[in-house]
Amino acid sequence: MKAVVYQGPYEVAVQDVQDARIEDPTDALVRITTTAICGSDLHMYEGRTDAEPGITFGHENMGIVEDVGPGVTSVRKGDRVVMPFNVACGFCDNCRAGKSAFCLTVNPPGAGGAYGYVGMGPYPGGQAEYLRVPFADYNCVPLPEGSEHEQDFALLADIFPTGYHATELAGVRPGDTVAVYGAGPVGLMATYSALLRGASRVFTVDRHKDRLDLAGQIGAEPIDFSVGDPAQQIADELRAPGVDRGIDAVGYQATAEGGEEQPALVLNQLVETVRSTGSIGVVGLYLPSDPGAPNEHAAKGELLFKVGRYFEKGQTMGTGQADAKQYAHFLRDLIIAGRAEPGFVVSQELPLAEAPDAYSRFDKRERGYTKVLLQPGR
Ligand code: NAD
Ligand code: ZN
Repeated sequence: MKAVVYQGPYEVAVQDVQDARIEDPTDALVRITTTAICGSDLHMYEGRTDAEPGITFGHENMGIVEDVGPGVTSVRKGDRVVMPFNVACGFCDNCRAGKSAFCLTVNPPGAGGAYGYVGMGPYPGGQAEYLRVPFADYNCVPLPEGSEHEQDFALLADIFPTGYHATELAGVRPGDTVAVYGAGPVGLMATYSALLRGASRVFTVDRHKDRLDLAGQIGAEPIDFSVGDPAQQIADELRAPGVDRGIDAVGYQATAEGGEEQPALVLNQLVETVRSTGSIGVVGLYLPSDPGAPNEHAAKGELLFKVGRYFEKGQTMGTGQADAKQYAHFLRDLIIAGRAEPGFVVSQELPLAEAPDAYSRFDKRERGYTKVLLQPGR
């Protein structure tokens, strides 16, 4: 079958790989209809991780069940399904508590499994014609049949639940004021989720005009960090010392984008942007190590967080991979009911063969490349 395979820094190729197949009785085999490129794929694409050439990328997958193992009871051949990116068992202590991003059964225990991701288990990605889905009863989220809402449902695999998780970590409540750093796909979904949860004002920070415009279109107030300190700009707009809740949807790669030497920039800015005793949700990724980082501390994942200021302001913070499965079912139901349309972030739907070009353009944050979907069947 054809798949998008990592070749080395800044290079992917569409090539023939071993066919995905049922390996365990609890597996399903899914024919991929839509699979998305994620900002998280760029950490591997840019060579900033230990990813070895040969990995099939793709953790944001949906499709039609082609076959199931004898131990699968709730999904059948022909079902339309989306797979939240965490590969998880559904029966360990963490899964039972809804913390599927920290599943204790899949490899590596407690650190989370994912399709097509270095350090997150042996599961090939779904930027391919077919995907093997372990523990299929738990990892497949059923969708209505047909082709309606394909773009919206595809985003249930990661960025819609992840954006929602950011608002959960930050504790967004009706009436709150919120600042979201990053207007990439994840930041836009966090912005959208904060508005969905009844935030009174949401400020979305980035420097790319097309992304800021999208934030403005859904009702947020765009803040361009390239024209001045965003914390100050937000305080001026708010006429108050800080917002109630802050969200980091950028992660450690703020260095390269912000042109700063210290990678913890966004976390420190959030502490300034959020009021005393307010709370912060961090879904932007911080790698435990980054071999290509500009200094030896950053290479070991040791970033300069100004903890004294954080303590002084009495703030709280939640972090981590999103437990996408915890949110995917009710977010799906909001889409079905016409109460959520996250697909506004989708900028391209392309055949799998165009993946190399799409990766390169998305990586450069080329204007108009906000969220790229790949459709292997086209
Ligand atoms: P992206 O790279 O497309 O978006 C990041 C955005 O941040 C860009 O638009 C960039 O211009 C902006 N930015 C850079 N520096 C900034 C700064 N100093 N202030 C404000 N904005 C700044 O990526 P994405 O797909 O939106 O993902 C964002 C992050 O979320 C990535 O680190 C990704 O790995 C992570 N992520 C985490 C989870 C999770 O489960 N926690 C899931 C998906 C993605
Ligand atoms: Zn993703």
